[in-house]
Amino acid sequence: VYNDHKVATKKEVSRRRQLLHDAANRYAALVGDLIAEPGPLIQGSYLTHGTRCGKPNCKCNEGHLHNTAVLSVSDKGRRTSIYVRPPDRPEVQNRTERYRLFRLRRADLVKLHAEIIKTVDELLATLVEPYLPSRDRKRSQSKRRRSKSGRE
Ligand SMILES: [Zn+2]
Repeated sequence: VYNDHKVATKKEVSRRRQLLHDAANRYAALVGDLIAEPGPLIQGSYLTHGTRCGKPNCKCNEGHLHNTAVLSVSDKGRRTSIYVRPPDRPEVQNRTERYRLFRLRRADLVKLHAEIIKTVDELLATLVEPYLPSRDRKRSQSKRRRSKSGRE
């Protein structure tokens, strides 16, 4: 029974080590992505919508709306929209998207870190073995008994 328990525990230990190894690799890959981000990034959301300009003879009155882009930024609970000039739009869209990805990876790191700590604790639990002084005492007692009997 004792040997069977030892084999199961060994399997558990190697499974935890593998989980930890995989999680560490994923963590390193995420950190690598963050390091590779060259910047600059733009905080906020890039939003586009159709508008009417108000000119009476414009095509927008027949449903061909003008494309407008704004950068929506939340600062201390206040949301402000900044108009984005047409030539700046691709760059602003790209930089805000990369900002969003950076934040997502940061959130993934937080989750993964918690997962790693949980696995470390589980690994520790599988590695820990109780100290059983009674077995040692028995052995040393039998040794003592043997040496006693040897003297006699
Ligand atoms: Zn118009």
